[in-house]
Amino acid sequence: MSERQVIIIGSGPAGLTAALYAARANLKPLVIEGIDAGGQLMLTTMVENWPGYRDGIMGPDLMAELRAQAERFGAEFIQGDVTAVDLSKPPFNVSLGKTNYLAHTLILATGASAKWLDLGVDKKLSGRGVSTCATCDGFFFKGLPVAVIGGGDTAMEEAIYLSKLATSVTVIHRRDTLRASKVMQDKAMSIPNISFLWDTEVLDIKDVDKGAVSSLVLRNLKTGERSELPIDGVFIGIGHTPNTVLFKGQLAMHDNGYLKTHDGSRTSVSGVFAAGDVQDHVYRQAVTAAGSGCMAAIDAERFLSGTLHDSSAAHLVTNS
Ligand code: NDP
Repeated sequence: MSERQVIIIGSGPAGLTAALYAARANLKPLVIEGIDAGGQLMLTTMVENWPGYRDGIMGPDLMAELRAQAERFGAEFIQGDVTAVDLSKPPFNVSLGKTNYLAHTLILATGASAKWLDLGVDKKLSGRGVSTCATCDGFFFKGLPVAVIGGGDTAMEEAIYLSKLATSVTVIHRRDTLRASKVMQDKAMSIPNISFLWDTEVLDIKDVDKGAVSSLVLRNLKTGERSELPIDGVFIGIGHTPNTVLFKGQLAMHDNGYLKTHDGSRTSVSGVFAAGDVQDHVYRQAVTAAGSGCMAAIDAERFLSGTLHDSSAAHLVTNS
């Protein structure tokens, strides 16, 4: 069984930055990339808020650069999803099916994934008119009517982006007030081809049999009235779920499932560190994820060299 000083799970900006720092500290980190290698930036087009790129950089190109940079300093990569971790005692066992690794420190950078509606049909029509990423798929709906589900900043951002491509964008929200920040609300509401359907839930997305989206079946939650909205595309912008299933019962988490960290990147288990969106439900930016990846690598390095001062995690209660 391969034994490692540092194993990093996840390869978004947090995981790759942790890999860069750990590699430069000569810790020869092993990065388990996951099936969705590169994280959420692989689903974006132009990234304009990553410092140092005056004209922006494509998300996948940025991730390729970060990966190559970490690799140049000796980070090792393997593909595949981790199937189990045992955090009960160090060294920690990390399993990928039947293959096992032992880690003296672990950096968890498994990120977060977009939420779906739980209708069933939305996943069946994914890539056939249903999307969770306007910047990835908006172009396919040029000159067509689309809908956006949700009332937060993600939904507003998607609607604003789509308004430049689609003929019309109908934002469907389950309440009569938006959760989005004032500035995003004002911007979305000022765009003529964005309209809002309040107090409305989606009952069905048609038409699975045809393998394409043709309309939404809706219900007004106040009046109970049902209606059908003809559209060609629907974008689900109802938030994200942290990828923490593997750590349930082993690490302290917030009520919303995000990992709790304290004193930098420490989790409730000594020697296990967390970085990026898996522990951040507030900022959720590529650059903040990268920054926290750097912190996790420095914390892991200090832990291994015995210079990470002990700090009680007693206040962090592990969720069952
Ligand atoms: P939020 O949790 O803020 O919003 C989710 C929205 O989806 C809410 O309006 C919620 O309704 C609705 N919703 C949730 N579940 C369902 C469901 N099952 N069916 C229908 N509607 C549902 O998530 P966001 O992703 O929008 O934002 C997360 C964080 O990221 C926020 O802090 C936000 O500020 C930030 N962000 C910032 C951006 C920016 O500044 N450019 C861009 C994107 C995100 P309800 O309101 O009723 O709960």
